[in-house]
Amino acid sequence: MKRNLKKSLVLVFTCILMTTVFTTVAFAAQYIYYDGGLLNATVEVENRLNYGIFDYCISKWNNTSTPVNITQVPGSGHSYIISGQWDDTWYGMYTPQSRQYVFWGRAGKFKIELNRNTLVSESDTFRSSVLVHELGHAFCLSDNPSSGNSSIMNYDRNRNYLTWPTSDDIAGVNNAY
Ligand SMILES: [Zn+2]
Repeated sequence: MKRNLKKSLVLVFTCILMTTVFTTVAFAAQYIYYDGGLLNATVEVENRLNYGIFDYCISKWNNTSTPVNITQVPGSGHSYIISGQWDDTWYGMYTPQSRQYVFWGRAGKFKIELNRNTLVSESDTFRSSVLVHELGHAFCLSDNPSSGNSSIMNYDRNRNYLTWPTSDDIAGVNNAY
């Protein structure tokens, strides 16, 4: 899930994009570019989670054959991952910060929030699937409406199984960097 100030504009954009994807899906890798990802795939991130899934999720991205290089740092002012309670149905939320053109463009850093209200009764595997997905947004992958476990960005992936970027996700990241 992504947060954006220009919601109606994004909806139109997404619908057009989805039409394009459905007509070219047989020929192209199954990933959708998202321009709110990081400008630089080397990123320092603060772990403000109270779940013990940070290292696992970071390693899932760091171990891919991509330019992704995430290091954990202390302090404040960096990208960060945090959990909190929101009275809403979402599991995770990615918010780009310090964007190139203020409201759009690649991000200088990000905030990822995990919703304790929806994740409290779920397993660490499920939570990891959510966090690895949100990190996918940080590396320029959009939510992907195609079905199954072909991508960590699939809406209907099995969150109790898929906790890693797939070959389609890796292709998408390498296309963006
Ligand atoms: Zn998402």
